[in-house]
Amino acid sequence: MAPGRVNRDGGRALATFSALLEPKRMESRAFGAGGPPVPAVGQGTWKMERDDPAEAIAALRQGLELGLTHVDTAEMYGMGEVEELLSRALEGRRDRVFLVSKVLPQNASFAGTVKSCESSLRRLGTDRLDCYLLHWPGPHPFGETLRAFQQLQQEGKIRSYGVSNFDADDLEAAVALAGPGKIACNQVPYHLRDRDIEEALVARCQALGVAVVGYSPFGAGEFPAANSAGGKALRAIARERGVSPYAVALRFLLREPGTFVIPKASSARHVEENAAAGDLQLSAEDVQRLDAAFPPG
Ligand code: NAP
Repeated sequence: MAPGRVNRDGGRALATFSALLEPKRMESRAFGAGGPPVPAVGQGTWKMERDDPAEAIAALRQGLELGLTHVDTAEMYGMGEVEELLSRALEGRRDRVFLVSKVLPQNASFAGTVKSCESSLRRLGTDRLDCYLLHWPGPHPFGETLRAFQQLQQEGKIRSYGVSNFDADDLEAAVALAGPGKIACNQVPYHLRDRDIEEALVARCQALGVAVVGYSPFGAGEFPAANSAGGKALRAIARERGVSPYAVALRFLLREPGTFVIPKASSARHVEENAAAGDLQLSAEDVQRLDAAFPPG
């Protein structure tokens, strides 16, 4: 064999080996108008109180290692239990994390929001949240919640604030009250079989400089069955790209600029599969195929 051939093959093998050693690149995007860069793929924590705590903590930490540092929680989750679990997962790692929590609508009066935030901070074992959200529109006027958000921000207890489950009208009204560029995000349901936000909300958020955070990106565990038409399309693309169908689904949901996803996983293997969406590229044909298999509306 010619020496050149040996060198070429050796070079290629070395490149492949070092690529394996390199940490996965996790794509970051600006979190709302002028917001900080935040990983496009994050980690959710709803119902994590039902998981084995040691496994859930290990999974969250593995996610942080892989760049999934956008971590979403809420005072509602396990009635505070999940925030406490998260504080254990974040020990010694808090500074690397973009930490989001939420106030329940029934607590979202001015005084109630301040109290809820302080309770979340205590449970999370931190002195600030990176973003604090109103979980969904409720009985208290948004102006009151907003005043509390503004005070908490001035005190350094929250870095930014946003909303969740707001439709386009609610969001317009919230932005009109808060002023341009102040509402960092709108966290809304988004998965392959629920693409309603693509109709108008994503465009409104983009126009208003509000990040779109897609929750339940796997349909809250109702992932398309392997033998369904959509499941087959996902699996075929996943096989071609050398990733899991879950990574393919996440990447499809990240097509639009300014969008983020926060899948929940309580095993390290699931987290690793999901993290592969970070540097996955889908071709125009892949996207067309998924678009046809999971039509919007
Ligand atoms: P999801 O992320 O759509 O699905 C979670 C389920 O998918 C879990 O059963 C998980 O199993 C499984 N899973 C994850 N990765 C997997 C993989 N690679 N292979 C196979 N299965 C996998 O559901 P979600 O928890 O409803 O949504 C995500 C997050 O969004 C929540 O945790 C929460 O933080 C947020 N959220 C916000 C709102 C809101 O109103 N703002 C509402 C709902 C959710 P394991 O746990 O066994 O890994």
